[in-house]
Amino acid sequence: MEQLKRTMDRLLIPWDDVTIDTFERYRTSILEWNEKVNLTAVRDAQEFEIKHFVDSLFVANHPGFKAASTIIDVGTGAGFPGVPLAICFPDKHFVLLDTVQKKIRILQQVTAEIGIPNVRPMSGRAEDVARDPEHREKYDLCLARAVANLATLTEYCLPFVAVGGYFAAYKTESGDREYEEGKRAIERLGGRLEDKIAYDVVNAINEHNILWIRKIGSTPKEYPRRAGTPSKEPIR
Ligand code: SAM
Repeated sequence: MEQLKRTMDRLLIPWDDVTIDTFERYRTSILEWNEKVNLTAVRDAQEFEIKHFVDSLFVANHPGFKAASTIIDVGTGAGFPGVPLAICFPDKHFVLLDTVQKKIRILQQVTAEIGIPNVRPMSGRAEDVARDPEHREKYDLCLARAVANLATLTEYCLPFVAVGGYFAAYKTESGDREYEEGKRAIERLGGRLEDKIAYDVVNAINEHNILWIRKIGSTPKEYPRRAGTPSKEPIR
């Protein structure tokens, strides 16, 4: 876990042997489950460390993350980026949302067994859950990695964010183009691009960026549209 340790040092994230042990146990459990259920295409342990653990942590030194205490990870899959951040920041609370119930059951079991108490894995589609008053505009921060293009993703994510909070989208080199295509959606849903932070992941071929979108006004209540519409007809 040398790359992970180096990244945590670089991002000034405090860690100890228990932190590393928790990461190791999480990786082992997910790779074991992956034999039976398709959770991730990454099967090599070192690639897992870099693509899933190291990559997830790069939001950590932004003021929008530092200030957040309630965070939702939309389209979490096997728990990324939410779980690595939850391991490193036990005082922050993470809802891990995904449509696929089977993945959520595995996350519930694995995080309970390992002892990651500050996560709540939850199944549902973002478009439906974001209409529930328990979740609408209730989060300081919404995170998403590898879920949809930015216009669609903004409609999934910004409704969860309280005014003043942030939506952070992990993107590769398509970030600039997606921003041009997603600008209207961001404005319509109450957001404004505040930062684009480029970061280096070990051995990465692609450029990696995090787009930080600030919620500056409430999301109109007609959004998100019905489940499936944001991906079929993104706001242009
Ligand atoms: N974020 C993880 C990562 O970076 O490894 C998983 C990425 S995976 C390619 C995309 C995930 O988003 C899938 O698990 C899928 O079920 C979920 N997803 C797609 N659309 C969704 C929606 N509308 N609401 C909730 N989850 C969604």
